[in-house]
Amino acid sequence: MPALALGIDLGGTKIAAGVVDAAGRILGRGHRPTRPREGWEAVVGRMIEAGEEALAEASAGVDDLLGVGVGSPGPVNPQTGVVVEAANLYFKDVPVVRALYRHYRRPTYLEHDARAAALGEYRYGAGRGAANLVFVTVSTGIGAGIVLDGRLVQGSHFSAGELGHTVVVPEGPLCTCGQRGCLEAVASGTGIANLAREAMERGEAPVLRELAGGDPEGVDARLVAEAVRRGDPGCREVLDQATFHLGMALAGVVNLIDCDRIVIGGGVAKMGELLFEPVRRTVTACVVATARNVQIIPAALGPDAGILGAAALAFTPPQLTPGS
Ligand SMILES: [Zn+2]
Repeated sequence: MPALALGIDLGGTKIAAGVVDAAGRILGRGHRPTRPREGWEAVVGRMIEAGEEALAEASAGVDDLLGVGVGSPGPVNPQTGVVVEAANLYFKDVPVVRALYRHYRRPTYLEHDARAAALGEYRYGAGRGAANLVFVTVSTGIGAGIVLDGRLVQGSHFSAGELGHTVVVPEGPLCTCGQRGCLEAVASGTGIANLAREAMERGEAPVLRELAGGDPEGVDARLVAEAVRRGDPGCREVLDQATFHLGMALAGVVNLIDCDRIVIGGGVAKMGELLFEPVRRTVTACVVATARNVQIIPAALGPDAGILGAAALAFTPPQLTPGS
């Protein structure tokens, strides 16, 4: 009886694969660099190599696999198994599921990485036991995944969870999507660093300037958090705005779907209470009274979230036709 899943986390710089059991234990791992400039066939070839490495380490074979799951930057189409577009991978309409199925001959599932991570946290991490969960990743971008009654929500256009591109500051900073004032442009790690850099250049962030040695290139969200801890007024303002807008956006989500838990992951969440306390305060102040006890907690899976989320796709198959 096959009882394992192969989870493949496809990122812009590296591919991580893991053989995972139903309890979420990673029994074997494999890694390859992505090297996206070499073309998608080469990238898929390295995904297979990483998968084979993980199977070998787990002393498992393809026959032990219930299925294969892939988390990828997107947009992706889980129904056709195609990565529609991923700028950092130079992917356009890449049939990832078909290519992997040709090798493994097991049911193969593709999801957007943020949605896969949501399923991973729901099944193995900080989302365990939640009835309705929203997972938000705040890193270079902002993405989300929604699990309602145990099912991952994909949406009518497979774009459910694009919280980062909600406009929160009309005519605000330019976003990577082309709009102005998206949540991602003011509250992602990149957005926070950009706004703090501007404050530094206006002379409003003296502590940050000192920490960065005056070098704008050295500014990232982690350094901004450190400057806030040391009392920098400009960085404090940037972070206050970021957490306020994130909290307001999440309050809207809570009112809309009435989830009982929000899990926040990604590099920016490592700021800890500097982020969580003001976000909780804003959400609590802005949601309807019945939803005020919504929990807002850090993600639990850390760097393995990608592998476990991808594997969870094979254990909790979405309602769609597996790749063939
Ligand atoms: Zn945007």
